[in-house]
Amino acid sequence: MPQLPYTFDADQRYPVDLHMHSTASDGALTPTELVTLCAERGLTHMSLTDHDTMDGIDEAARAAEQAGLCLIAGCELSTRWQGINIHVVALMPGGLQGAMVEGLIQQRDARIQRAEVIAERLEKVGLSNALEKARVQAGSDRPLGRPDFARALVADGLVPDWSSAFKRYLGSGKKGDVKAHWPEISQVVAWVVASGGVAVIAHPLRYGLTRRKRGLLMDTFQAAGGQAVELVSGQQNSDSTRDLARQLAERELYASLGSDFHFPGSHAAPGSMSLVPRTAAPPIWQHPRLLHLRDAQPGLLANA
Ligand code: AMP
Ligand code: MN
Ligand code: MN
Ligand code: MN
Repeated sequence: MPQLPYTFDADQRYPVDLHMHSTASDGALTPTELVTLCAERGLTHMSLTDHDTMDGIDEAARAAEQAGLCLIAGCELSTRWQGINIHVVALMPGGLQGAMVEGLIQQRDARIQRAEVIAERLEKVGLSNALEKARVQAGSDRPLGRPDFARALVADGLVPDWSSAFKRYLGSGKKGDVKAHWPEISQVVAWVVASGGVAVIAHPLRYGLTRRKRGLLMDTFQAAGGQAVELVSGQQNSDSTRDLARQLAERELYASLGSDFHFPGSHAAPGSMSLVPRTAAPPIWQHPRLLHLRDAQPGLLANA
């Protein structure tokens, strides 16, 4: 397995993807199928980061060992900051342990309770038996997410497609965007850090924040013990990436990379993301808790 570089060079790709989903949350591929696809696409390092759960990690770890890839355990946690639903990727080299065990139980309960509120609200706009219909779309007994409700709205003919479902009912600020159940971002960062993990602000360019407000988010996050930000998340504008890189470098935050892949056939694929610019922000694999990512053996990355 090739060693990862100590710094980012100008406009490069790396065989690394630290943000992807499986059927353990709202992804379409099983953990095994996802790992296989990552291997086919030439990745050497990956993380499985399902929404508020690490249930897919054991299966992914077995597949990674088979496929000769280095897997870092992880998840993507739903949080709240200033009335906005902010996502935090937790990279957990020691696996699920410590405060995260209780944290994920809380997130699961919050998600189950939130689904009931979302269902009530969608019933008022015409989606009868919303909870049951979302459950059918989920096709398993995992806690429901907004994508399941989006599919139910489409199946019932209330909206023409998935993207209109978010635009009209489920997206930021709409009726079905219920945030009250999620813990404050500082609380979530504390769980991650206390459990041997590294907390990463997910897709910072996707919250519709001004540059100044994004800086405030980073400051709050950093004060709580957060140390990394996704510098590249899927496809993004190169000027915005360079500007974001400056915000990271100013604060000495580590830079992570991920596709946020959910399903084949969309514009995203494992490892497919915009180029990483030259920046003083250190790669996340330079973080003391992840240093052994650089020259890791295939299989699950585990702290010695
Ligand atoms: P949840 O975790 O249940 O709050 O659902 C959030 C998920 O819904 C995200 O991770 C995406 O997979 C999907 N999603 C959120 N916003 C949109 C959007 N505007 N268009 C399409 N999918 C979205
Ligand atoms: Mn998702
Ligand atoms: Mn997200
Ligand atoms: Mn995601």
